Amino acid sequence: MTPRTLVSRDGSPWEPAYLEAIDPDTCIGCGRCIKVCARDVIDLKGITEDDDLCDPFDDDEEIVRKISVLARPGACVGCGSCAKVCGTGAQRHAPLVEAA
Ligand code: SF4
Ligand code: SF4
Repeated sequence: MTPRTLVSRDGSPWEPAYLEAIDPDTCIGCGRCIKVCARDVIDLKGITEDDDLCDPFDDDEEIVRKISVLARPGACVGCGSCAKVCGTGAQRHAPLVEAA
């Protein structure tokens, strides 16, 4: 698998870095990545005492903490903005690859 380089509008090379995963144990649910993503790729979720994901604003749930989840990976354009604002290293990104 070879990383594939795309071309920016001015002709310069662009290597996208797609969001592949968010580690639920490392994420602190700060929501910064959600705010900067223009593609609506990431959702905020609550985690219950039983480790189930739920609506983070559901008052009927006993929410222990909140995390971000990769909800719509196919919409990611690999801009890298979410990586820039994450202070915990919870995200994993990957380049666009093509079969060798
Ligand atoms: S890389 Fe860009 S498009 Fe993809 S999830 Fe992060 S901010 Fe959104
Ligand atoms: S910026 Fe990082 S720590 Fe904050 S919600 Fe997003 S993935 Fe989690």
